[in-house]
Amino acid sequence: MSSDQTWKEKYFQELETAEHREEKWKAERNTLERMLVRTSLASEGQAPELDSLLERVRSDLRKKEVDVKSWRELQGQIDRQVALLDDTGVADSDDIENPHSQRLRIARRVGHLLGQLLSQVSLESAAEAHARNLQKSLLSSDNWDELREGLNQVADLIVAAVTRSQREFEAFLKRLDERLEALQEHFSVQSSAQSGRQAAADTLDRNIRDEIEQVGRHIEASDDIHGLKQSVSGHLECIGDAVGRFRVEETEREKLLSEQLMAMQEKVAIMEAHSEQMQSQVRKERERAMTDLLTQLPNREAWQERLAFEFNRWKRYQYPLTIGVLDIDLFKRVNDSYGHKAGDRVLQLVAKEFKNRLRATDFVARFGGEEFVFLFPETPPADAQIVMDKLRSHISALPFHFGGEPVTITFSAGLAAFHPGDTEESVFERSDRALYIAKDEGRNCVKVSQPTD
Ligand code: GH3
Ligand code: MG
Ligand code: MG
Repeated sequence: MSSDQTWKEKYFQELETAEHREEKWKAERNTLERMLVRTSLASEGQAPELDSLLERVRSDLRKKEVDVKSWRELQGQIDRQVALLDDTGVADSDDIENPHSQRLRIARRVGHLLGQLLSQVSLESAAEAHARNLQKSLLSSDNWDELREGLNQVADLIVAAVTRSQREFEAFLKRLDERLEALQEHFSVQSSAQSGRQAAADTLDRNIRDEIEQVGRHIEASDDIHGLKQSVSGHLECIGDAVGRFRVEETEREKLLSEQLMAMQEKVAIMEAHSEQMQSQVRKERERAMTDLLTQLPNREAWQERLAFEFNRWKRYQYPLTIGVLDIDLFKRVNDSYGHKAGDRVLQLVAKEFKNRLRATDFVARFGGEEFVFLFPETPPADAQIVMDKLRSHISALPFHFGGEPVTITFSAGLAAFHPGDTEESVFERSDRALYIAKDEGRNCVKVSQPTD
């Protein structure tokens, strides 16, 4: 649960508690009012002035309008009338009932009513003790001064009970006001945390602040509990609405953001796919650019690249590195005797054999025409010569047939190893020279160049 929701719930709980409290106060007040009506009726018929004062008490109660100040005056007038009765009472002592015993009856009646009241009303412990003492004296005392004082105090109790509800409600509203202020602070802190939500949070903040200010003004200006309660409920509702709107807008903003994010992700995915496509196209084109069309072997460009790579490795690690240059013997004759296509076929077949018979770490490329070049990394020239010789005898044993005739294909090759101070060109030239020596010495052989060559 989010913190603002907790706040909101707390206010509504608080409001509900206040409503219960007010219900209870209303019931208490009704009881007190009923008691007052009964007491006034019980006191009637002793003097017209007193009767009219008591009628005023009842009419005020009927109107549900108790003005505390005017009631205090009313109470003083009643006191004076009762005191007058005291003074005149003795003279009429032979009338229907002795006024003293009449007053005692009234006091006892009020005492009983007070007892009933105390059983229904909850008072603070000090007030409760006071009311119990009062009740006791009203029920048992014969001293009229004491009884009169007691009756006055009952009136005070009623007035206090009526005003208490208003005071407590005001205290509740003050607490509420403080908490609303804290809520408003909470929102302003939250809003500053996220700059993107600033505008919305500002509006919310303003709404809440306005509502709180209005609640504050109502609390100060109003003395009407119902009005206050309705006003606070209304303001809370407005705050709730503002928070609700903020949440809806927040959800909208989040939705928009996530849609934008999704759209961006889609774009990125498309771009990634496109880039992969481009990359694989570039890779393919590069491969094509590096491959000899006829033999599908790496071409001269690929050779240069690989030679540079192996040369750098050799310079760094100084492992033996041997290169070979191979030329098919008397190839012109093949073309001349069996056609260019037969020549192409020979080139394709020997290329396939070269590729299949070499180690994965070795490298072969078509240099041009019927010339091929080899790289033997981490291989001394003597070992490379063994490999090359095996290849040579294998090719020379291949059963070529052109135009029904068996044809023997041979090649000559020159090998050279890298030595300190060598460059790619110098080693290539040495192996090329070794190739010419092989040609010179009758072809179909492999020659290794010496560093001194
Ligand atoms: P040597 O033993 O001295 O190398 O004799 P050779 O006949 O092989 O030498 P030369 O360099 O005189 O001839 C090479 C021939 O190879 C010339 C050319 O027609 C042929 N040739 C070069 N490239 C191709 C090709 O792609 N296809 C075919 N069919 N022939 C080619
Ligand atoms: Mg040649
Ligand atoms: Mg040749």
